[in-house]
Amino acid sequence: MTLRGRLTSAFLVVVLGPVLLGSIFVALTVAAVSRERTDERLDHAATTVRAAVGAICGQLQAAADAVAVVPASARSSVADQLITRGLAADIRITGPEVVSLARRAPQPPAGVTGWQDCTAPLGTRITALAASAAAADVTVLAALPVDAALLNRLGVAGGVTVTLSGTAPPAPGGVTVTLPGTAPPAPGASTRRLGAGPGQPLPLTLSAPPARPTIRYAVLPLIVLLTAIVAVIAARWLARSTTRPLGDLAWAADRVANGDLDTRVPIPRPDELGRLAGTFNRMTRELQSYVQALTASRDQLRRHLAILGDTLSSTHDLDRILPVILRTAMTATGARAGLVLLVDPADGTLAARCGAGLTGEWDLPPADLAARRLAPGRGVLGAVVASGTPLRGTTGMSAEEPACESYLAVPISAPPSSDPFLSESEAGPGTLGVLALYDRLGGPTFDDADLRTLRTFAGQAGVAVHNVRVHEEAQRLSLTDPLTGLWNYRYLREVLRREVERAHRFGRMLTVLMLDLDHFKDVNDTYGHPVGDQVLGEFARRIRLGLREVDVAFRQGGEEFVVLLPETDAYGGVIVAERLGALVRDRPMQIDPRRPGLTDRIPVTVSIGIAVFPEHGATAQEVLDAADEALYAAKNAGRDTYRLAESVSSRVPEGNFDPTPAVSGPQPPRHGSGR
Ligand code: GH3
Ligand code: MG
Ligand code: MG
Repeated sequence: MTLRGRLTSAFLVVVLGPVLLGSIFVALTVAAVSRERTDERLDHAATTVRAAVGAICGQLQAAADAVAVVPASARSSVADQLITRGLAADIRITGPEVVSLARRAPQPPAGVTGWQDCTAPLGTRITALAASAAAADVTVLAALPVDAALLNRLGVAGGVTVTLSGTAPPAPGGVTVTLPGTAPPAPGASTRRLGAGPGQPLPLTLSAPPARPTIRYAVLPLIVLLTAIVAVIAARWLARSTTRPLGDLAWAADRVANGDLDTRVPIPRPDELGRLAGTFNRMTRELQSYVQALTASRDQLRRHLAILGDTLSSTHDLDRILPVILRTAMTATGARAGLVLLVDPADGTLAARCGAGLTGEWDLPPADLAARRLAPGRGVLGAVVASGTPLRGTTGMSAEEPACESYLAVPISAPPSSDPFLSESEAGPGTLGVLALYDRLGGPTFDDADLRTLRTFAGQAGVAVHNVRVHEEAQRLSLTDPLTGLWNYRYLREVLRREVERAHRFGRMLTVLMLDLDHFKDVNDTYGHPVGDQVLGEFARRIRLGLREVDVAFRQGGEEFVVLLPETDAYGGVIVAERLGALVRDRPMQIDPRRPGLTDRIPVTVSIGIAVFPEHGATAQEVLDAADEALYAAKNAGRDTYRLAESVSSRVPEGNFDPTPAVSGPQPPRHGSGR
């Protein structure tokens, strides 16, 4: 059953039930009252009729007496007068002479004989009422017939219908007489029997018509009917006006549940249902704007994540990666500002790498921001790095840190090492830096969800920083020679090209030394290859010792080395060559003897070729080739010496090349074969 059906039924029961019960009660009460009234009327009528019959009998008696007492001669005229005046219908005088005076009396029906004496007992035949008086000689009988007229008179006097009770006993001749007025009372009428008794010899039945339904009896069902119609209409209206807004609401709620947040319900009236509809509309509106904001922020976050993914996968440049991570973390948490600092492995200070939304003295361009450093262990950020645990709150910042209402700072940690053989200290420092967010928009402080989010981004940053450092290390390894720790040939090409370019652009000079150990094959042959390796290592160390900060040494291959001297002319190159030659020559190479008894010192010398840009070559390769030729000349000159390349202009054509001053004997092998 629907709500509407239930409301209608309940309303009808509540309204119509009492009306029906009340009307039944009223009907029963009215019926009882009218019955009582009829009974009272019959009681009253009985008294009146009895008195009227008694009066008639007394009147007849008086008439008989009056005739009896007058002299015999006047009786007849007195009787006439009495009959004329209506005191009796008939007066008979019996005695010596019977005079019939029945002139005005109705003729008694055939077979009817005798008169009913007013004093006669019940049950005798009744045709007329009579009273007799006896004089000395005569008997006078005054009579009045019991007919319809008499009964009518009695009825009028009593206000009821009067009939004779029962049927008259059969006449002696066997004739049954039906008297007028003995018809049975109307069906449904209330009756009262009035028995014959002294002074009232007639067996009468008084009947009052049933109490006629008054107008109220007709109005009552009408009122009930009208009430019922009104109640049904009211119930339908009430149910409709209540259930229609509810139906609208249910329909709208269904649509909202299916995702249509544009749905609104009409506001019918400013009642409770109207308020409910208004609240529903407001709720839907707010839900819609909330969903829109959420969608916008999700889209923004998605864009940031896409950028983050691209950035992480496409670059190893921390200056690009960290700002993207910071921006994405700020979008995801709704932070006003953020800052990333990395621990400088050199001194443990916290160096700012990137910031966003910062104010005050931290509102700096990226280049200036990168110069900002925090002392280790100071303030919130220092504590986060020192403890490796996140911090959040509103107080506790040091004066050097960015000013804020609230903050959330999590450590940037290196990902756990995948190498099970590395100890924790070997794997590098655990905390690489700190990622901090400031002033959450739309909330007083950062919550647990923000902390989880920021931990995720700090994890990304940790992986990125770690990857970049690993990448840098890998790159360094790919450009260095593992035996000597010097830069390798590949890097030599790169650096030489760059340096030549720079020297060319700024009109500077650049000197290249090419070094080759003398008779190194003999070292290998005498002491073995591993000892040869040790000699190479020691040689490289000595080269490094003999160079300035800006000079770069490379192992070109085998026992051949190259030294690059930026901003240096031939004269400077000669000085360095002499210094290096002396460093090698003056002290034998210290080695670890492979077998006891073998020597731990091996004397070694080096030959050096010197070439200068742009004097000896216009390109990196030309300069390198010139140095190689100079080296060749140094070898030819007897080794353990250096030679300067010939300038380009003074070179002789191929074939006529005369290597140098003091060379004799067989040609040494060409150098730089490993290139
Ligand atoms: P010179 O240069 O004076 O003409 O004579 P050399 O004996 O040094 O001749 P050369 O430069 O041609 O010989 C190069 C030798 O260096 C050959 C090889 O055995 C040795 N060598 C090259 N690379 C390595 C290395 O990585 N380790 C060791 N132990 N020896 C190497
Ligand atoms: Mg060689
Ligand atoms: Mg050699």
